[in-house]
Amino acid sequence: MAAADSLRTFNQRAVLAALRAGGMASRAELAEAVGISKPTAGKIVDELLAAGVVQEQESAAAGPGRPSRPVAYDADVARFLLIELNQNRTRLALVPVAVPADDEAVWSISFATPDTASAWAAALHKAVGAPAGLWAAVASVPGVVDDEQGRCLFCHQVPWAPGEDLRALISAAVGGVPTVVLQEIRTLALGHAVAGSGDDFLLVDSGDGLGSAAMIGGHLHRAAGPFSGELGHTPVLGRRRRCGCGATGCLETLLAAPRLQRCDDKDLDAAGAIVGAALNTLGLARVVLTGALAELAPARLQRLRAAITGSALAARLGSIAIDTAPRRRALGLHQAVHTALLDRTDNWRYPCRVTAA
Ligand SMILES: [Zn+2]
Repeated sequence: MAAADSLRTFNQRAVLAALRAGGMASRAELAEAVGISKPTAGKIVDELLAAGVVQEQESAAAGPGRPSRPVAYDADVARFLLIELNQNRTRLALVPVAVPADDEAVWSISFATPDTASAWAAALHKAVGAPAGLWAAVASVPGVVDDEQGRCLFCHQVPWAPGEDLRALISAAVGGVPTVVLQEIRTLALGHAVAGSGDDFLLVDSGDGLGSAAMIGGHLHRAAGPFSGELGHTPVLGRRRRCGCGATGCLETLLAAPRLQRCDDKDLDAAGAIVGAALNTLGLARVVLTGALAELAPARLQRLRAAITGSALAARLGSIAIDTAPRRRALGLHQAVHTALLDRTDNWRYPCRVTAA
């Protein structure tokens, strides 16, 4: 990439980041926030306006003598298709560039998850077709997922998923748009971070399965293999229930949502020890519990908190925070697709990006 283009891309990203943080800003405010000249900020905003990434806003300050109105992310045109693939249901949301304000209200379409890949792709196509103006699709997928390759390696919740090129499957079903695939718990951790809830934490979620994802220094923790965060498949001594992964007594067989209400104090103690071990390994002092774990009865939640506190070194050397939080899946997916479009240097780019210097 030519130096001038690289600088332009850098500035454009900075303007988009400033708008994401502030919601609405004038060209002058953006120039100041990013540290660029007003003409440069104005040029970038004009490009973003032309591409439909941002739109002009009404402002009390606008009027005669004001050269331009403030801008914000476009909130009118559906640009991203968000997909939540789950064991029983698939949920869809068509959202604009503007960050979703309500994580639950956006999921306007859903269908029962069929039992083959081709039937699922057909259902996806039937539900949304190939929307005009759509820029990208992004899916949260359960199981062990290779985000980079867009493939699922293991998934007992959706047995047809492993082996499928999910990215290609989704893209083909909705008009050939670029598609991002993200493991579901990682999606939740990203959403939680974007909601402004911290840069360093381990998110543990109970749903159809049990898993975790670590946010470290504001970035999703990545490992060489795609098994990062899979603490649900740690066997608990003495427990013999067969797990979908082929082992017996995995924590997931005790604490996945369908079984969570029936688990006993010893199971919660085991969960606390396993979560504590993860904290000790990663050097984290903060846990965020979501899904069915966030809905535990107060006494049981207290038991789990005590077990985590008892095994985490952070609690002995300093302090530990254990919070419950709502799932922020739409926010996480939105952030993932937004970042992918900004980061990629091939034709995944936002439509406004230009490579010619
Ligand atoms: Zn297992």
